[in-house]
Amino acid sequence: METITLQRPTWAEINLDDLAANYLSVRHFVGEGIECMAVIKADAYGHGAVECGRRLEQEGAEWLAVATVEEGVELRTAGISPPILVLGGFWPGQIGIALAERLTPVIFTIEQAEAIDGIARSGGEAVSVHIKFDTGMGRLGFRYDEAPEIAARLSEFSGIRIEGLMTHFAAADDLASDLTAIQISRFEDIKSAFRAAGIEPRYTDLANSPGAVAHPNSRSNLVRLGGVLYGLGGDVLPKGIETPQLKAVMSVRSRIATIKTIKVGQSVGYSRTFTAERDTVVATVPIGYHDGFRRSLSNVGKVIVRGQYTDVIGRVSMDWITIDVTDVPEATVGDLVTVIGRDGSAEIKAEDISRELGTISYEVTCGISRRVPRLFSGKNRL
Ligand SMILES: *Cc1c(COP(=O)(O)O)cnc(C)c1O
Repeated sequence: METITLQRPTWAEINLDDLAANYLSVRHFVGEGIECMAVIKADAYGHGAVECGRRLEQEGAEWLAVATVEEGVELRTAGISPPILVLGGFWPGQIGIALAERLTPVIFTIEQAEAIDGIARSGGEAVSVHIKFDTGMGRLGFRYDEAPEIAARLSEFSGIRIEGLMTHFAAADDLASDLTAIQISRFEDIKSAFRAAGIEPRYTDLANSPGAVAHPNSRSNLVRLGGVLYGLGGDVLPKGIETPQLKAVMSVRSRIATIKTIKVGQSVGYSRTFTAERDTVVATVPIGYHDGFRRSLSNVGKVIVRGQYTDVIGRVSMDWITIDVTDVPEATVGDLVTVIGRDGSAEIKAEDISRELGTISYEVTCGISRRVPRLFSGKNRL
């Protein structure tokens, strides 16, 4: 892909056809009769929420999910219409805008329910909400062992319509853990408690990506898919099981800006963390830690030039990296540099970088900053 000459040549390619292929592949894998909620929080894990949301809407995703009201408003402003669940609920000042934009809040405190109920009753129309229970994550949600009291309390609010009942897995990627089975069983008890209180929500959902793929008994009637949509399966799906076909959606690329040779004994970069042991051809590439090329990849990271892996040498700085292209003799100014993605037979995945950094691929793609323009390929048919 060619870049626009007005921009520094550092960009992220987002292949929307691959996003759609992943979505359809996972959807087929989880089977008929189960609706899909495409999780596009955090700017679609760094991939661009508006474009990804639009394409997933076209592919038939019944639901979208975001973390914050602000993220939901951004999608509505862009004309995206499917129901949007706000996983992080809302802050008191946000209720008006959330309801005006038809965002569906997750509720995990009685105060939130009271606030919605008050507004709904003054507006004369019940508001759909999804109720979240903590069955073992220990983060958001009403406690699982308080389900009968919570169900009774919520049924007093005529202004809220309980459309969904949900929980979130803490360890669905770990097949050795028994927590997922325990969480599923606690969720069954919660459903029973609500049924006993006369509440039967249309949606009951538990599964995130590893849940939907690795725990068929957690799929219920709705799965909440994040990472797998972006092809980030490598480090959040359990190993050694059957998984859907996935393709990495994001590639990050740049170009060589300068090339020079330094002599044996000379150092490169801040704090002189690299000293040449041979005459070394050093290329500079305009990407640095502000772009999301993490400083801890200093002297460790690799990028691809002309189909060959090359080493990052010296410190990663804010706007630049320096790489050793001594063994790529044809390397020249303007050459494509692949930071994430494929070039010839060489490939660097977000999962390879996250392994190096001791994190997960989600943090790598989320970390590609706004300074890196997203260039979309593939069709948005609107
Ligand atoms: C982020 C999130 C998901 C999606 O998780 P993935 O592992 O990316 O599939 C699902 N449910 C909730 C509540 C989340 O916060």
